[in-house]
Amino acid sequence: MIKKIIVLFLLGLFLYSCATVPVTGRKQLSLVPNSEILPLSYDQYSQVLQENKLSDNQQWTAMVKNVGNKIKGAVEQYMKQKGLSDQLNGYSWEFNLIESETVNAWCMPGGKVAFYTGIMPICKDEKGVAVVMGHEVAHAIANHGRERMSEGLVANLGLSSLSAAMGQNPTLTQQLLLQSVGIGTQLGMLSFSRTHESEADEIGLIFMAMAGYDPREAPKFWERMAAQSSGQRPPEFLSTHPHPETRIADLNKQIPEALKYYKTQ
Ligand SMILES: [Zn+2]
Repeated sequence: MIKKIIVLFLLGLFLYSCATVPVTGRKQLSLVPNSEILPLSYDQYSQVLQENKLSDNQQWTAMVKNVGNKIKGAVEQYMKQKGLSDQLNGYSWEFNLIESETVNAWCMPGGKVAFYTGIMPICKDEKGVAVVMGHEVAHAIANHGRERMSEGLVANLGLSSLSAAMGQNPTLTQQLLLQSVGIGTQLGMLSFSRTHESEADEIGLIFMAMAGYDPREAPKFWERMAAQSSGQRPPEFLSTHPHPETRIADLNKQIPEALKYYKTQ
């Protein structure tokens, strides 16, 4: 009897706490609303900006902001067309270029984007920036951080004590939240699962195409990234974004779909 009640409770919690990823339609666990995640994300983002030096390369900085705004426009257009605009509630987009040799870029929940100058030569031009921007923004739109956090909560607390703990142990909840959005020492080094990576690729291609960039540039970027990894010091980006070869093969399969969005420009 008790077992039955627990099963029903878990089922109820699961159904209640599911969200759907835009574009791919995958169901994901969602135990904490964006309204709780975004303020933390914004705090941490301003901290990163304070602790790092912004690039004084005006050309690159303008490129990152320009591409970022076009991708933002594409995202807003896509979400509007699908009747999902409310999922962007509370977003506060920002695009900054940080002076650092680290080969990396990320987008925190709510549209807070950082590129590091180290990735710019691999991006090569605006089209390469659009590949990375589309992919990183896709992680945010697909709420991959929130999903990781929700799974972290379940794994650490167990479902039965979860609802109680979320009310009574805000510190633990916050810790898990910070971990899952990649904050603290892990900031920007967050590695997503293979599912999240290929989902971000798929969604990113569509956003870049809608923003006016040829999605066929994506495999070219990853080829350049793969070439870098044969050097002595593989780029940081590849420790969180593994398997360029698999990725390139998958991207090539997804390009025909993305091209439909590109041709409508
Ligand atoms: Zn990624």
